[in-house]
Amino acid sequence: DLFYRQMPKVELHAHLNGSVSFSTIEKLTARKPHLNIEHNMTAICSGQRRTLDECFQVFKVIHQLVDTEEDILMVAKDVIRQFADDGVKYLELRSTPREEKNTGMTRRSYVQTVIEAISQCGNEGLDIEVRFLVSVDRRHGFEVAMETVKLAEDFMLSTDGLVVGLDLSGDPTVGHGGDLLPALQKAKNCGLKLSLHMSEVPSQVDESELLLNIPPDRIGHGTFLHPEVGGAQSLVDKVTMNNIPLELCLTSNVKGQTVSSYSNHHFLYWYNKGHPVVICTDDRGVFCTELSREYQLVASTFGLSQEDMWSLSHKAIDYTFASASLKEQLHRRWLELRPSLF
Ligand code: 5GP
Repeated sequence: DLFYRQMPKVELHAHLNGSVSFSTIEKLTARKPHLNIEHNMTAICSGQRRTLDECFQVFKVIHQLVDTEEDILMVAKDVIRQFADDGVKYLELRSTPREEKNTGMTRRSYVQTVIEAISQCGNEGLDIEVRFLVSVDRRHGFEVAMETVKLAEDFMLSTDGLVVGLDLSGDPTVGHGGDLLPALQKAKNCGLKLSLHMSEVPSQVDESELLLNIPPDRIGHGTFLHPEVGGAQSLVDKVTMNNIPLELCLTSNVKGQTVSSYSNHHFLYWYNKGHPVVICTDDRGVFCTELSREYQLVASTFGLSQEDMWSLSHKAIDYTFASASLKEQLHRRWLELRPSLF
């Protein structure tokens, strides 16, 4: 729908390697034909669903295709351009710094390359502001988490604010977030904003309780926080009291089968409470979606008007980790672009 494509949008939950489009995958498979990777191994297209476990297998395949600085540079630039083409004016991209023994890529050169991609896109004059969140993969444990926080801190200081925060992600069925608390706390103390994946599967009540005590600046998914789905009132109270925005990704949750249908998505619970929510893609390549499509989907599923959706996209500016001056600039932009009639 043209309205949602043209509407200015903020994307706050996008994993770099999950956002790789089909055309970029084709360029990567051409570089690495010996891997024999087919499209259905890197994307879950319309009508298909997978278990959460199968979704995490997809990332492993993409990681095989993206294992040099050259790959990262191309992928990051393509992803940023594609978000810009979809009308995204402010993007917070997140990615897990990866070390590849075979190619010599290090976690540091990984982050350096993403930063390079962001600045090259800036120099090309693309109409999009991009910031970076460094991801901690929970599977990798405490030591790597501490190292990653150090890296994020170094780059926050050296890139003049391009690195704005830390993300906690990775397979929610592996490891316990509680073990990583000191790393997350350290990140917070040095001025990094925290966006934590939380309650993606039903068994995470204790973990979410601990993570909410930090508290984080935003929550990824939060699918099973509320009591009706097996969460707990105490979790909802903490989220509400601290007014922590939730990043909600409908297609991702339905295709990964943590939510049974679009109309059962927890968007409605939080939206009806008047709680801050922001619509995001999660992995636009893997789940074959776009942010404009997610907005359209929310509107049609829950019967919201174009004006309601505009207001959601506008409010999202306040939930970004951007500086006060950039937020102000974005607000002005939204006011300029606002249709006089809906
Ligand atoms: P990357 O960090 O390599 O750029 O992007 C892929 C990674 O993002 C995955 O390996 C995984 O750690 C994380 N990721 C992507 N989508 C999801 C999701 O829906 N839930 C969680 N917990 N992690 C995700």
